[in-house]
Amino acid sequence: MGQGAEDAGGYEIDYDPAYEGLRHGEPRWANETPVSKMTTQHVKNALRTARSLAGNCSFSCDDDKWEDWAEILDRELASRSQRNQAKSKLPRVQETRVKTPVRGSKQQMKCHCGAVYAARTADLKRGWAKSCSKRCASIRREYGSPAATKIK
Ligand SMILES: [Zn+2]
Repeated sequence: MGQGAEDAGGYEIDYDPAYEGLRHGEPRWANETPVSKMTTQHVKNALRTARSLAGNCSFSCDDDKWEDWAEILDRELASRSQRNQAKSKLPRVQETRVKTPVRGSKQQMKCHCGAVYAARTADLKRGWAKSCSKRCASIRREYGSPAATKIK
């Protein structure tokens, strides 16, 4: 089932740093800078960019990466200002774990190389995210290695 979609390859065809950056454990802006390493000013600028792009999807309206980014950056800013305010009071409460929205739900996958990674269910539905990395995706494309399988 779904052979056609799998063989099509998917996300690895056109590299998208904004999208790829979301695939790390800690999101990396432009697939480069981990969010926690960005300066506050950088986060603010990035948030502005993400918000303006989120509101105007041209041809791929199911592409919610900018909304995801806006959310991530917004959360980062909020937790930074909380941290500053709370510095003198509470000994830092672990409270930044906001519930994950449905569209960001993840599925644990096992790549043909054996690596376990989290794929976004939205991507899987589109036939994407069938490998743990771009490298494995190209190996899969060239040698026809099997797609990743779902774990539980
Ligand atoms: Zn792999």
